[in-house]
Amino acid sequence: MKLTFLGVRGSTCAPGAGFVRYGGHTSSVAVTPAGATTPTLVLDAGTGLRSLTGMLGGAAFRGTILVSHLHWDHVQGLPFFAAGDRPDATVRVVVPAQDDRSGRDLLAQLMSPPGFPITPEGLVGDWRFDALEPGTTQVEGLGVTAVEVEHKGGRTYGYVLEEDGRRVAYVPDHAPAVGVSDALLAALDGVDVLVHDAQFLEWERPRARDYGHATVDDAVHLAERVGAAKVVLFHHSPGRVDDDLDTMADVVPTELDIVTASEGLELEI
Ligand SMILES: [Zn+2]
Ligand SMILES: [Zn+2]
Repeated sequence: MKLTFLGVRGSTCAPGAGFVRYGGHTSSVAVTPAGATTPTLVLDAGTGLRSLTGMLGGAAFRGTILVSHLHWDHVQGLPFFAAGDRPDATVRVVVPAQDDRSGRDLLAQLMSPPGFPITPEGLVGDWRFDALEPGTTQVEGLGVTAVEVEHKGGRTYGYVLEEDGRRVAYVPDHAPAVGVSDALLAALDGVDVLVHDAQFLEWERPRARDYGHATVDDAVHLAERVGAAKVVLFHHSPGRVDDDLDTMADVVPTELDIVTASEGLELEI
């Protein structure tokens, strides 16, 4: 499968001259399974999701969007996804199940007047909204394991995708310093690539803990602990300019292959 990073920021967009190389869109990663020519699976629907419309070259989106959790920076691109908001689109949106509410109702809490002009039903095309419990299932031909992770404010999942024995884990918002479950360790064991929250640096640790996030050290140490082959630093602080991100992977000594995610980055897995 191929990952294409469409948005790599956390919290809120980061426009401006200091952010052009790594990009300012919030979290979204497109996945093109082997044998497919365009993405059929998307991890999170931050503002980066808008870029998928261009990637599809005029075609409608037909596939699934796996949402890690319902914070704004992971869903705000949904109503602005033109390739999904058209009559010939087929879009399944999957969110973490919580509070005995339907997927539609969970999204409608964010997407309905007066906070937003339309409800989920206002999207054009064949849209479906599902609330998913943790576990393993098949999505768009890939094995998908949803596992609950420590974060703040609502249920949050990490997703592990598997195709022909190759595995990538996507854990965009996570506070490993607060706790790492056995279920998460098992799901991440030996992954080829771990895409992980790296919003903070060690000197910012008090804020990382308050906000339910990871430091770069946390991300690297978790990757080492589970025996990942590569770690991708993701969900960058909106205040971290390009020059800061250039050196972010150097702050932790490690033998691991480290990549600092940037908009447009493609990874074959
Ligand atoms: Zn986030
Ligand atoms: Zn969050």
